[in-house]
Amino acid sequence: MEKLIITAAITGSRITREATPYIPITPEEIAQSAIECWKAGASVVHIHVRDPETGQGTQNIDIFRRVVEPLRQQTDLILCLTTSGIPGRNLPTAERLAVLDLKPELASFDAGSINLGNGVFSNSPAFLVEAAGSMKEKGVKPELEIFDLGMIMTCLQLRDKGLLQDPLYFQLVLGTPWGAPASLKSLVHLLDHLPENSDWSAFGVGKDHLPIAMAAMMSGGHVRVGMEDNLYLKKGVLADTNARFVERIVRIAGEVGRDIASPTEARTILKLN
Ligand code: ZN
Repeated sequence: MEKLIITAAITGSRITREATPYIPITPEEIAQSAIECWKAGASVVHIHVRDPETGQGTQNIDIFRRVVEPLRQQTDLILCLTTSGIPGRNLPTAERLAVLDLKPELASFDAGSINLGNGVFSNSPAFLVEAAGSMKEKGVKPELEIFDLGMIMTCLQLRDKGLLQDPLYFQLVLGTPWGAPASLKSLVHLLDHLPENSDWSAFGVGKDHLPIAMAAMMSGGHVRVGMEDNLYLKKGVLADTNARFVERIVRIAGEVGRDIASPTEARTILKLN
């Protein structure tokens, strides 16, 4: 089986200090946490940033730069910058795509709209066309975030129109309250619809995190971990760092004989330039 790419999703845009005192908020905390994950075996970090004053998610490129620069100086991590534009707040397209100017190797591409609490995480057809075009032009590989089957079909349509290029790289998001459930059946159903030569990673949200990680690991997929998706190591036990999640996956992968990909090996697997 291919070596395992571990992606660490460091902070997301919505987890507060009330939910866990350990969530990285400032650019320095986010960079530090990413470095710890790299040391523990992550080859990719998925980066959101927060306004250090309010703690809220932001697409401010200057704040992204304060995370990206130290990571480029001190690690060989593959950076996947978010273009989510704060789900629910749905920032303007230009703000969402500004991070592409930092030339990350990967950027998240949320392949459709979905309800979120009482709001909607909006990714209109016009946004998807603009985001795909912009990533193509800037040489950034889209990480196709899939919350439900229709989003895979959307990606295949965009590929057929020449806006997305093979080999596609999917991140399957299971267990959000309004999307595909975090079950084996659901994972297999999504996998059945991926094009043959694509690469994929998966994660389950919250309590479903570990079962989905293990299923992905054993099915030849890659795994995403981190506080954006899950705060607890087990019931009632908060992770005090993101690296704890990476360490656990490295441990399990060792037991089942799946080797861990270094960032260089992950670049080869994902066909990054
Ligand atoms: Zn994210």
